[in-house]
Amino acid sequence: MLIGALEAGGSKMVCSIGDSQGNVLQRASFPTQSPGETVAQIVDFIGRFGVKALGIGSFGPLDLRPSSPTYGCIMRSPKSEWSGFPLLRELRTALNVPCAIDTDVNAAALAESVLGAGKGLNSLVYVTVGTGIGGGIILGGKLVHGMVHPELGHMLMRPARNDSMPDGVCPFHRGCLEGLASGPAIEKRWGLSSRLMMPDHPAWELEAEYLAQMCVNIILTVSPEIIVLGGGVMQQAHLFPRIRQRVVNLLGGYVASERVSPERISGYIVPPALGVNAGVAGALLLGAQALGQDDF
Ligand code: ZN
Repeated sequence: MLIGALEAGGSKMVCSIGDSQGNVLQRASFPTQSPGETVAQIVDFIGRFGVKALGIGSFGPLDLRPSSPTYGCIMRSPKSEWSGFPLLRELRTALNVPCAIDTDVNAAALAESVLGAGKGLNSLVYVTVGTGIGGGIILGGKLVHGMVHPELGHMLMRPARNDSMPDGVCPFHRGCLEGLASGPAIEKRWGLSSRLMMPDHPAWELEAEYLAQMCVNIILTVSPEIIVLGGGVMQQAHLFPRIRQRVVNLLGGYVASERVSPERISGYIVPPALGVNAGVAGALLLGAQALGQDDF
């Protein structure tokens, strides 16, 4: 049985055809233009394969309250023509199959939980650190939505003493995680792209400090069984041991679990097992879930 997956991004739309195990058989991508043009391209591609359902992992913010009249709409977006666009409804109507939508990071969290690093566990937090910082939470095997959806990337940080830019770059908050530790924040602070920085650049010590604070906040509030850190900035593999060590220090032995002990923490804060395929696998899983849940 074929399932469609859409990874909806602000710059491109990636359409895939696959199965409920997250395997991809066909893929096509289109630049994100006006909603009308873009949806027509998506429907034209996915419509050829006779899919039984569609899962969408989308840029946000999204309205994910099932009872809301604007459920599945993109809320405010820097791309103004997409603000308020009913992405879920338009695709559901055009393709005439059950559809499900969630944020791109929630889709990746779901995939890592079911098929990746969190396989066999009931709880997981997935955080992507790149141009922005976002996170998805799985508890009891289910994605947490709550009031809207979690916005882990904007948690407030304790500024590091040696940070020359302690207020960060987020236009909404002073000293939030994304404003201090996203790719653009690193670039602004040091005047150099993070891709060009050697592992001994002082930027990484500061980055590890903020990401360790984030992990500690997650551990103390959500208590997940595993934390997965992905995204472009986390391609710097040397960050992992630094973050783990600092997390152990910051926790001060307070949390009573072997998982966060110095001996075991290398299996607790980990890179994505699915690598860059987490997003598409998650969208396929959302599609498979829609088959049983979307009253079509
Ligand atoms: Zn912020």
